[in-house]
Amino acid sequence: MIALEAFYEKKLTCIYCAKPFSSLRVRSRSAIAYKTDSDFCPHYRTGNYNPHFYYVNVCPECGFAFSEEFSDQFPKGTQEIIRVQITGHWIKRDFGQVRSIQQALEAYKLAILAGTLKKEKKAVLAGLCLRLAWLYRAENNAEQEKRFMGMALNAYEESFVLSDFGGTSMSEVKVLFMIGELSRRLEQYPKAISYFSKVIQHKDAKDEQKMVNIAREQWRVTVEEKRQGTDQD
Ligand SMILES: [Zn+2]
Repeated sequence: MIALEAFYEKKLTCIYCAKPFSSLRVRSRSAIAYKTDSDFCPHYRTGNYNPHFYYVNVCPECGFAFSEEFSDQFPKGTQEIIRVQITGHWIKRDFGQVRSIQQALEAYKLAILAGTLKKEKKAVLAGLCLRLAWLYRAENNAEQEKRFMGMALNAYEESFVLSDFGGTSMSEVKVLFMIGELSRRLEQYPKAISYFSKVIQHKDAKDEQKMVNIAREQWRVTVEEKRQGTDQD
């Protein structure tokens, strides 16, 4: 049974075709995480609803998918590429109701494609890949989880090089932490250790003490994992 009172309807406007549509959001009281992983992946018990199922908006008219972090600016030439690759052959479908896991996964893949074609910030694309990896983690699909963690890692590294995280929910310290943590989860231990050290020694460390403390702990965990890995060889 789906408890409809757990949701509310959000009115939106497509940033590509400008048509209005609506999408569901989970009320915060119906989405209380009982635990959070070291990469901030939240876990919900049965009876709660995962708000990440509804993080991506999919325009039912044109198929353009986006999160609230997308800018409404389309670099020159990208609208035409999007028309050819997405909206021109979209068969009208509605993602505006309660979503199955399949619909949630598809919504993310549509948004990753749309965001890539519109040259959205790497920090925003990384956030989509990371959340998609989290959905696969909840489904116990380790192979796909790793695939999208790898894509998130690449995108965060590019975001760090380009410094394109300004105006998103990410800071430089958080981007560095995520590069460290995703490297650790993908068993790239020397790289993980190096990035956790960058967080600990960062010039903004005193303003982000919580992140620095988590980085210290993850640095310690990684050194131990690396040592155990070496012992087995
Ligand atoms: Zn649209």
